[in-house]
Amino acid sequence: MVKAVVGANWGDEGKGKITDMMAEKADIIVRFQGGANAGHTIVNNYGKFALHTLPSGVFYSHTTSIIGNGVALNIPILINEIKSITDRGVPMPKILVSDRAQIVMPYHILLDQYEEERLGKNSFGSTKSGIAPFYSDKFAKIGFQVSELFDEEILKDKVYRVLETKNILFTHLYHKEEMQPEALLETLHEYRDMIAPYVCDVSAFLDKALKEGKTVLLEGQLGTLKDPDHGIYPMVTSSSTLAAYGAIGAGVPPYEIKEIVTVCKAYSSAVGAGAFVSEIFGEEADELRRRGGDGGEYGATTGRPRRMGWFDCVASKYGCRLQGTTDVAFTVLDVLGYLDEIPVCTGYEIDGVVTTEFPVTAKLEKAKPVLTVLKGWKSDIRGIREYDALPENCRKYIEFIEEQIGYPITMVSNGPGRDDIIYRKGK
Ligand code: GDP
Repeated sequence: MVKAVVGANWGDEGKGKITDMMAEKADIIVRFQGGANAGHTIVNNYGKFALHTLPSGVFYSHTTSIIGNGVALNIPILINEIKSITDRGVPMPKILVSDRAQIVMPYHILLDQYEEERLGKNSFGSTKSGIAPFYSDKFAKIGFQVSELFDEEILKDKVYRVLETKNILFTHLYHKEEMQPEALLETLHEYRDMIAPYVCDVSAFLDKALKEGKTVLLEGQLGTLKDPDHGIYPMVTSSSTLAAYGAIGAGVPPYEIKEIVTVCKAYSSAVGAGAFVSEIFGEEADELRRRGGDGGEYGATTGRPRRMGWFDCVASKYGCRLQGTTDVAFTVLDVLGYLDEIPVCTGYEIDGVVTTEFPVTAKLEKAKPVLTVLKGWKSDIRGIREYDALPENCRKYIEFIEEQIGYPITMVSNGPGRDDIIYRKGK
């Protein structure tokens, strides 16, 4: 059976920790979308790791970690990431890369940088990892699949053909140097040699595994609000962040996805530009940012400070709905233990009308938060393993949010470690 772990909001909800935890009982973990532009932070017995490309199951010796066809594959980053974990004592994981995954090319990264520079203050806040140019090319049908690295004739012909148009952009739009086809071809030969040991027909592998009764975890990157269709377009990412896309980005039948664990953080954070209705500022935000996550809310890839806000029931209800949530994992709750009172955003006021439905972007820009203030619990809840042992106000906070979003919170995470989890029985 297939389970998905996905985000309800803007990303950084703690999916890495939940995937790492659920991977204990899984056989295969698949990344199905996105690239090395975002990261997961994982804390386990080997230490603390920031993963950008590898699935969060790589720390177990019983799992197979897969880069699915939907991923924007940056080959040197993948290889460095494998080295960075094995250098720190993690046993060499079993890794497979789809022969249909497409490759982030050196010119994608340059085009991303140059375009953000050109846009200046109107930029998208891209991490400049080449993801938007990569997906543009994929759908313009000029991307390079991993399998093409192994056919010299196709490769050479395509490199020359594609660079013709890229070089027009480089020289005429961005006033930069041309990229030389022979040098690029050389780089692609290096990529081919690096990736060769991992290449696999992933959908066939997964089909066989599912027939054998194996458990497959699909690991999402970012969250619903960054989805290109259902998110805060255009301040979104370039591939779908929804569990449904897991079927495509991994190559499994949609009806195999039986469990969809949507991760919601107990407060909000976001990176990049775009409307963020429950955002807070100043000292209030700085304190939550400092205390947030595990060592502060700073980007796993860029180190940039995240924007902070109160829990947003409107966005999270919508986020859970689009994911097709069967279970909510409610994370980083321990961080809120310092607050006397905790505001929660329960509605949006748009042009004088209050709604609990998440609107399209043009309306979202006008939305003002309607806040309900709950009492804090003023204590450290780390280490608690039973739901009933949580302070009453803490349980009230969870149950209030559960009612507002309308999906069952079956797991509560109260620390970054694998064991920092409370299962709510009977939910
Ligand atoms: P992801 O991209 O969704 O995996 O999220 P990130 O890894 O960017 O952010 C989650 C951060 O919160 C990481 O630093 C985790 O170690 C940390 N974290 C996850 N769950 C918890 C939790 O329940 N409590 C605390 N304090 N930190 C957590």
